[in-house]
Amino acid sequence: MVAFIPVNEPLINGNEKKYLCECIDTGWISSEGPFVKEFEQKMSMLVGRKYGIAVSSGTAALEVAVQALGIGEGDEVIMPAFTIISCAMAVTKVGAVPVLVDSDLTSWNMDVDEIEAKITSKTKAIMMVHLYGLPVEVSKVTELAERYNLKIIEDAAEMHGQTYNGRKCGSFGDISTFSFYSNKHITTGEGGMVVTDDIELAERSRMLRNLCFRKDVRYMHDEISDNYRFTNLQAAVGLAQLERLNEFIEKKRQMGRYYTDRLKGISGLILPIEETEYADNIYWVYGMVLDKDIPIDNRTVQKLLAEEGIGSRTFFWCIHEQPVYQNQGLFQKEKYPKAEYLARKGFYVPSGLALTEEKMEKVVSGVRKVMNKIYMLKENS
Ligand SMILES: *Cc1c(COP(=O)(O)O)cnc(C)c1O
Repeated sequence: MVAFIPVNEPLINGNEKKYLCECIDTGWISSEGPFVKEFEQKMSMLVGRKYGIAVSSGTAALEVAVQALGIGEGDEVIMPAFTIISCAMAVTKVGAVPVLVDSDLTSWNMDVDEIEAKITSKTKAIMMVHLYGLPVEVSKVTELAERYNLKIIEDAAEMHGQTYNGRKCGSFGDISTFSFYSNKHITTGEGGMVVTDDIELAERSRMLRNLCFRKDVRYMHDEISDNYRFTNLQAAVGLAQLERLNEFIEKKRQMGRYYTDRLKGISGLILPIEETEYADNIYWVYGMVLDKDIPIDNRTVQKLLAEEGIGSRTFFWCIHEQPVYQNQGLFQKEKYPKAEYLARKGFYVPSGLALTEEKMEKVVSGVRKVMNKIYMLKENS
């Protein structure tokens, strides 16, 4: 009996323990510790940005980014319909409105050709979210932002070290964000970062991260914010992880090639594309999508894979179909067919950095078995 293969196992066998011991030995465990600044500097330098502000999660980073830009009541922010809820929540939390665009089925990112039609006099920003391992077609977004005088919030949570036409993801937004959740290329358990070249946005982000303490008088506050601080313990892990980013990306690419080599040709399965004109996939996770004529959804696949001892996850659920927004009367009757298709037919298989080849082999045979089962069902229906 082989043990269940979890969908994500992080790799934390570098200098993490050493740096964590340093925190404990010196007593520096809070956000005031020295590793936080060092991690901010190294991460922002890697991305080619002047400032980095570490926060408690990728979600917090998006919230800080939206608030730092001064987006508020009635403003509109354009974003993909198919993305993580964090993107929309950061916007609705301040009373602004997410305006959604459908997906591009080759890259699974938002279809940049649909953005322009969504721009109104209320549009303040475009949230450019790079998903699953391939960057958005950045140049089309930056061109629109310039022409219509819009800000770009770049969500690079799944893109540590990825490039678009040779330039690092995370360097394209007026303000850009990362997550260090345990399934990202670099993890600190939980954590995130805002990066920017704009000193005012950086200073505002620093304020927003820490309850908007007044600079001159402590314990006086002019604005509502939150405690989004990042601890020295998290930074210790982050620094050790960062040392290995290139190795991690190489490992993810090997994993991607391994899966693609062995899964291609299984009918009914659409695999991730290995590259676009402007980037090679870095496989945040190894996702795939069921063909249109497969009469089964991703939740069923997840169940069938679990029966084979394989962990998997369905893709994100679309923003416009989220119960919380439907109940508020938002996005009524809006339709984004490609996004809806990805949300129902897309899933990903174990692809954490600690995954061994032996386990990948088991995943491959499990996927084959499940697809055969599904085909039998289809033939008999
Ligand atoms: C993971 C992720 C986030 C949220 O990050 P957390 O650290 O989990 O809050 C935001 N955006 C994208 C695209 C993500 O993949």
